Amino acid sequence: MPYLEGQLQDFKEAYGFQSPFAGFYYCYSSPEQQWAFYARYIQSLWDAPTGQTYYDLAEIVRGKEVFVLTTNVDMQFERVFPQNSICSYQGNVGYFQCSQPCHDRIYPNENLIREMCENMLGMRIPSELLPRCRECGRIMVPWVRDDTFLEGRDWKDGVIRYESFLKQCLTKEKAKSVLLLELGVGEMTPGIIKLPFWEMAYKNKGAFYVCMNQEDSSSPEHLKNKSLYIDGDLSKTLRDLKQIMKGKAGTGK
Ligand SMILES: [Zn+2]
Repeated sequence: MPYLEGQLQDFKEAYGFQSPFAGFYYCYSSPEQQWAFYARYIQSLWDAPTGQTYYDLAEIVRGKEVFVLTTNVDMQFERVFPQNSICSYQGNVGYFQCSQPCHDRIYPNENLIREMCENMLGMRIPSELLPRCRECGRIMVPWVRDDTFLEGRDWKDGVIRYESFLKQCLTKEKAKSVLLLELGVGEMTPGIIKLPFWEMAYKNKGAFYVCMNQEDSSSPEHLKNKSLYIDGDLSKTLRDLKQIMKGKAGTGK
């Protein structure tokens, strides 16, 4: 989760959080405190500059048919790739949903988040700024995967877009050149990206799987001739790759 360093310093000191993730899932004693953390954290994501890695990636795949399946919720992909080419499987912190959820709708939250941050009282927000569901009055929560995550119309639309893209790519004519590029996927939820990618690479003749990760990743034996593993700093790997491709384009190779 990239965020602006320093913006959560007071929370870090008061609660001992080692990461924003810890603050996000902490059990606060009041919704005003909970929303103070959410607001500050989400605002830091709105304000964070777009990572160069995202631009490099976009440059590398320029001119190709591309789809992004991501478990990131930090709105970075949305700034660089077209919205209709992204499936945000675990949600997006830039939206609210009802905490029940009592209805199928998500709401952009930037304005209210900024208002909360401007009016913060220490590490709490005023009660009147708690985001309330307009249908049932319950407190809203960020649209991010947890036990009440709304897999509603917007979520399903993303999944359908992804599935139809795959279907179209893996037809016989095009299946010779499908690259399944896995970038920095951790071990927490292998069922969303990693395992389906392994299966698709194995089952489809022309598909090839590339895994880039900070550390050594597990590599299945049956993908031996259909996969490539690149360990190390992802941002450096993509930057180098972009340079190499640029060089090749320049020499016409
Ligand atoms: Zn509701």
